[in-house]
Amino acid sequence: MLLTMALALPMDGPPIRDAAILVAAGRIVAVGGRAEIAALPEAHGVERRDFGRAVALPGLVNGHIHLEFTALGPLRAPESFHPWIRGLVAWSQGQTEDDWRASAVAGGRTSLAAGVTCLGEILTRSYGLATMLDLGLHGTAYLEFLGGRRATIGEELARFDGRLADARALLAEGGDPPGVRLGLSPHTPYSVTGPGIRAIAGRAHDAALPLAMHLAESPDEVAFLHDGTGVIADFLRTAEPDGSPRETFRAGGYGIGPVGHVAAHGLFRAGHPTLLIHGTQLTDPEIATLRDEGAAIVLCPRSNALLRCGAAPVAALLASGVTLALGTDSLGSNADLDLFNELRALAAIARAQGLTDEAALARRLLALATLEGARALALDDQLGSLTPGKLADVALLDLPAALDGDPYEAILDEGATARVCCTILGGRVAYEAAL
Ligand SMILES: [Zn+2]
Repeated sequence: MLLTMALALPMDGPPIRDAAILVAAGRIVAVGGRAEIAALPEAHGVERRDFGRAVALPGLVNGHIHLEFTALGPLRAPESFHPWIRGLVAWSQGQTEDDWRASAVAGGRTSLAAGVTCLGEILTRSYGLATMLDLGLHGTAYLEFLGGRRATIGEELARFDGRLADARALLAEGGDPPGVRLGLSPHTPYSVTGPGIRAIAGRAHDAALPLAMHLAESPDEVAFLHDGTGVIADFLRTAEPDGSPRETFRAGGYGIGPVGHVAAHGLFRAGHPTLLIHGTQLTDPEIATLRDEGAAIVLCPRSNALLRCGAAPVAALLASGVTLALGTDSLGSNADLDLFNELRALAAIARAQGLTDEAALARRLLALATLEGARALALDDQLGSLTPGKLADVALLDLPAALDGDPYEAILDEGATARVCCTILGGRVAYEAAL
């Protein structure tokens, strides 16, 4: 198929006016000027589709989402973090299997309509992965682990290994599509013990499965780890009246920050893809450690704001050399799943932290939502840019302002789900806006 449009932003090279993308067998064969691509022998006689004045982007990468929690939201008003996560647990316990499935499918469809084709999905159950396979969405689906207390870790890990085998079987049943990977995720440093983190990281390292972990999300998490104080510490003490938290989580804290804590429990291994989620509380030395460890961070500015977790050190991170992605998180902590709104929220933080070069900021932030985001999910060999050989995932936007001025700035300013006219997944039209 030969797709033509007014402008294409490949993200691994400069914008192309009067552009064409040649697609075969789900992959990009060539990208360039319309006349040049149409003249290729491979373009001879193929089906053509003209998108007029539309702008083509790589399918967007939502680096952090929980599809299964779509029905929990949308959350519009701020809520403080710890009561929120307790509410989430209570909500989860009231869901039937059909509820989970419907919630995940709704999140998948909403993502496609927003131009998103690739997800960093956290699997509480398996429905997020099933939805990705059913809808043809790409991404890394991280199987989540909670727990790890000494008395129960053996049976918890046995159960987790069973879930991993089931997820592998589901992936195989779905034909093991390119652009879909399994990963593992110890949930957080306050819901997974040190031995739990070590066990899950070890499995990921041995099986070459990418890792993801919520980390440095809230000031409460830092207080819990460092000093054993704050609402998380209080809750863990009261939740287990038999005294077991003292066995599992040290009463006076660990005297260490989140990054040092997970490093001490074996989360990082050189060359292994590890994604840390949120990072609002990261310090400069922690950012340097993450850079040295080759870890990536997915920023979720609107979720952080709604849960009153603070803003990440965005300017420092952008300058640090750490690979960054952008995520909406679930509708349980966001007003919508629109990555363009997320881009604007991130830009506002970056500006408030002193970044003034609008053109450079727009170009870099769009990279977080495409190529750099794909790298954070260990999928940049398949996705994230309009590059020959990669999967043909394309988002088409009706955005006339992008044709006149700087296209990246136009997208940062005016991009929106409502402007997505078509989303293409592996060369197949997966979403088209009603005219
Ligand atoms: Zn999350």
